[in-house]
Amino acid sequence: MNEPKSSCVQRLAVLGATGSIGDSTLQLVRLHRERYRVVALSGFHQVDKLLSLCQEFLPDFVCVSDEKVAECRQKIDELGLGIQVLSGDDGLAKMATLPTVDTVVAAIVGAAGLSSTLAAAHAGKRILLANKESLVMAGHLVMAAAKASGASILPIDSEHNAIFQCLPKPVQTDNQAIHDSSHGIKQLWLTASGGGFLHKSIEQMRSASPADAIKHPNWSMGKKISIDSATMMNKGLELIEACHLFDLPEEHIGIVIHPDSVVHSLVEYVDGSLLAQLGSPDMKTPIAHALAYPERISTGERSLDLYALSNLSFLEPDLEKFPALTLARVAAQRGTGACITLNAANEVAVSAFLAEQIRLTDIAAVVQYCLEHPSLIAHFDDDFAQLSDILAMDQKVRSVAMSWVDEGLA
Ligand code: NAD
Ligand code: MG
Repeated sequence: MNEPKSSCVQRLAVLGATGSIGDSTLQLVRLHRERYRVVALSGFHQVDKLLSLCQEFLPDFVCVSDEKVAECRQKIDELGLGIQVLSGDDGLAKMATLPTVDTVVAAIVGAAGLSSTLAAAHAGKRILLANKESLVMAGHLVMAAAKASGASILPIDSEHNAIFQCLPKPVQTDNQAIHDSSHGIKQLWLTASGGGFLHKSIEQMRSASPADAIKHPNWSMGKKISIDSATMMNKGLELIEACHLFDLPEEHIGIVIHPDSVVHSLVEYVDGSLLAQLGSPDMKTPIAHALAYPERISTGERSLDLYALSNLSFLEPDLEKFPALTLARVAAQRGTGACITLNAANEVAVSAFLAEQIRLTDIAAVVQYCLEHPSLIAHFDDDFAQLSDILAMDQKVRSVAMSWVDEGLA
């Protein structure tokens, strides 16, 4: 095979480099050093892990939290690395828009990833999007900014990446083409593993500790998304993410439980065909697809053993046990204000659960309380035309959600 020319080397900013998606991305870079150069890395609080990545990848910029910037600068100086150290949201936005960066891997967890994702979209970058929360909160702004600047958004959330792979090429390059009847797209199907409580009772969910809830049967991921998988809020967030990525209303997106996590999602066509993408539950596959798109690169892993797949099962979700699915559909129908509410209330509730302040089953209760709170509903029809409007709403929701946690409204 021909080696790519140096002008083809993709220059990466990996935002959230110290997390689970960051790890998988950098494993792929190690395998394909001739194709990728790491220009910028962000890591928030994990300075030592970030420093060891700096020694390995020698980026031009790193970004950490404001509290860690002095410590990080001192250590970079001691190592004589000559790397510029940035901090906070401004630092992330700077890294996402550097003229020397082609591709931004948006792998920060939660609302904290929004401003850098949006900055990358305005700057016309190729965005490998893991941070689903930025589309849940501000999908209209991110998609419009990308369209105006020519930025491309390649989903690396495994379900959305699977759907992307099963769509016709014209729809991959312009999501509006999904409405062109000649493509015959009937609906999208998101698969969900069902998480660790699929076969457990509501009582077992109610008494689950953070350690129980973090365990996922198939995937190894960061803490927040692991809890979101246990409550199935992850699938709710992914539903809203899919509405924005593929320009469809929620009723055109089905959710099916598939505990095996082999079929990563499907596109249903009017002729009865269902196209699916299959693979091992390993995030390196969707990340490799997006890194190399439209080419393909190896992940270095073994092929999925088809002979070992004796039985693949698909089930209807239990909406009573997993109310997050209905809450997300309601928010998607209600619009941006409700989606910001769903996301922020969930983030507060997940943190409170991890801090053992509330139960796992209270997470949906906090979200529902916020979605029904008059002071928040009053803003659901605001136009949220600016990032600042979205961040202000996010803050309002957080204080209502905190009042639930503090007052123990269960
Ligand atoms: P993680 O917790 O493992 O890593 C999160 C990263 O974000 C870390 O690098 C951390 O330093 C950084 N970070 C945390 N708080 C920050 C803040 N306030 N400001 C700046 N940086 C901050 O999370 P993860 O599992 O890698 O998930 C990252 C994103 O990818 C999430 O949006 C998640 O939903 C999505 N995602 C993850 C997976 C997965 O398999 N892990 C799969 C699909 C989508
Ligand atoms: Mg996913």
